[in-house]
Amino acid sequence: MHIRTQVGIIGAGPAGLTLANILTAEGVDCIVVETQPRAHVVSRARAALVEPRTVVALDRYGLADGLLSAGMPHGSCEFRGNGERFSVPYSVLAGGRYHQVYPQQLLHADLIAARDAAGGALYFQHAAVALKAGDLSEGGTITVESAQSGSRFDIECDVIAGCDGFHGVARRAVPLEHLRPRVKQHDFGWLAVLADATPSTTDIVYALHDDGYAGHMLRTSTVSRYYLQCPVGDSADNWSDDRIWSELERRLAVPDWKLTTGRITQRNVLDMRSYMSTRMDFGSLFLVGDAAHTITPAGGKGMNLAIADSVALASALTHYFRAGGTDRLRAYSAERIADNWRSQEFSHWFMQLLHTPAGEAGDASFMRRLRSSRLDMLRSSTAHASAFAESYVGPAR
Ligand SMILES: Cc1cc2nc3c(=O)[nH]c(=O)nc-3n(C[C@H](O)[C@H](O)[C@H](O)COP(=O)(O)OP(=O)(O)OC[C@H]3O[C@@H](n4cnc5c(N)ncnc54)[C@H](O)[C@@H]3O)c2cc1C
Repeated sequence: MHIRTQVGIIGAGPAGLTLANILTAEGVDCIVVETQPRAHVVSRARAALVEPRTVVALDRYGLADGLLSAGMPHGSCEFRGNGERFSVPYSVLAGGRYHQVYPQQLLHADLIAARDAAGGALYFQHAAVALKAGDLSEGGTITVESAQSGSRFDIECDVIAGCDGFHGVARRAVPLEHLRPRVKQHDFGWLAVLADATPSTTDIVYALHDDGYAGHMLRTSTVSRYYLQCPVGDSADNWSDDRIWSELERRLAVPDWKLTTGRITQRNVLDMRSYMSTRMDFGSLFLVGDAAHTITPAGGKGMNLAIADSVALASALTHYFRAGGTDRLRAYSAERIADNWRSQEFSHWFMQLLHTPAGEAGDASFMRRLRSSRLDMLRSSTAHASAFAESYVGPAR
């Protein structure tokens, strides 16, 4: 069996779903294939910090109603260290721009509902198992396999959008010498914890502790996310409920503050790797979101970059199919890479603020003292805090 479309989209994460919705609204034909069942995609809890430019881009296509009605506006974060705390009112410092806190899985559900309402093709439990990308003039083919029947069919398309995350097939279809990735493997891990626990704070909290960073993130009024720095190669099995709560309590401690606990629903050690392809296009194949780059969760950038990529690609594709010129499409890779590097720089700077080596070996004590100074600059210098605010909340568009 063969199906023909203008854009074949692999993956129904934030990148693929946003791209599909915008293309359909702009009159460009597309098909999405997703390896997971629908129930999995709408329950996979990950990010939640939505930048204002993401909200504006989604709202332009009527895709932000859920996040604007149920999201929590957020414009101030808190730093803790040495038993002290201070807030950075980043929205005030960044010209009034603020985040919405809205769990990624709810955004997935909204984007899928919009796709359904538009009558757009979206095949769950259909994995792309192979792809062939020719020149832009030749188009490409995605071979898809149904998880239920095991049967295969081909999607013939003018353009393939690889929105299938870091472990998908699209990136692996591009020769390494073309991608020439730049990779940073961080020398610590993060234990990510999700719990049915009322937030113990109104602001996101970043706690700098000599035994490692701890973070208290916001999700909903009944669910919270926490991060705990841990050694590279650590296993979530080493972290019992008691150990998680007592470590969080210890590292987040400030006077007159109490941590609310709850039922832990998810715990996993994140692969703290930053990865940047130097190209996001290969003939008729375009990489989008985590398929082209990954970033640490520090600063909450990953989902926003994935959506920014898809907004840019949707615009270039619309131009290509309407006007025929390839200039916008050819500019996609360089433009998105430049923007993504700016977020990488911020995330890397943030990681260095949050983490210091443990113990006394090597330069550990020097680096810890340096960190105190960095924190002090954030607290005492408006110029410094404003620079943080600009990067944290993200660009205006
Ligand atoms: C614990 C955690 C916390 C995070 N916190 C934040 C945060 O606070 N803020 C933030 O901005 N980002 C955060 N991120 C990162 C963010 O979730 C990702 O950057 C974002 O999901 C990337 O979107 P994407 O669409 O590019 O890829 P994905 O979300 O990975 O979507 C890819 C999709 O492709 C599908 N797929 C894969 N292979 C195939 C195939 N062969 N065929 C068909 N489908 C396929 C997958 O099933 C998946 O649905 C976090 C990530 C994690 C793991």
